[in-house]
Amino acid sequence: MDRLEKLCVEKGMRMTEQRKVIARVLSVAEDHPDVEEIHRRAAEIDANISIATVYRTMRLFEESGVVERHDFQDGRARYEEASDDHHDHLIDLRSGEVIEFVNEEIEKLQKRIAEEHGYKLVDHRLELYGVPLEKSGD
Ligand SMILES: [Zn+2]
Repeated sequence: MDRLEKLCVEKGMRMTEQRKVIARVLSVAEDHPDVEEIHRRAAEIDANISIATVYRTMRLFEESGVVERHDFQDGRARYEEASDDHHDHLIDLRSGEVIEFVNEEIEKLQKRIAEEHGYKLVDHRLELYGVPLEKSGD
């Protein structure tokens, strides 16, 4: 059983064959696919999976907290398996590529800002948007 499928079962979700396929697609994804891309990959495994099923399943997964939904400002919701390993995202506005990073200084700074306002930091989201640096000499 994939990690995500196991999580869903633990949350009491009824795992149909189609939901299992969608969970598997997300488990093996190393990127941040949108619903259409998830559907394309799921349909390679089971051609009967409709895009409506993928939409419904992603909503269910999101509400259960087993996946994270991202809005990278291109008008499409992107998904990734929720994980204990925190990371932030840098989005290349030219290619749409999404780079994952972790920066300890930023993590500490955010915690400090929350504390300065009298809060214990429990979560955060950070997205950086950029274009590739011009190489000198070009
Ligand atoms: Zn990510």
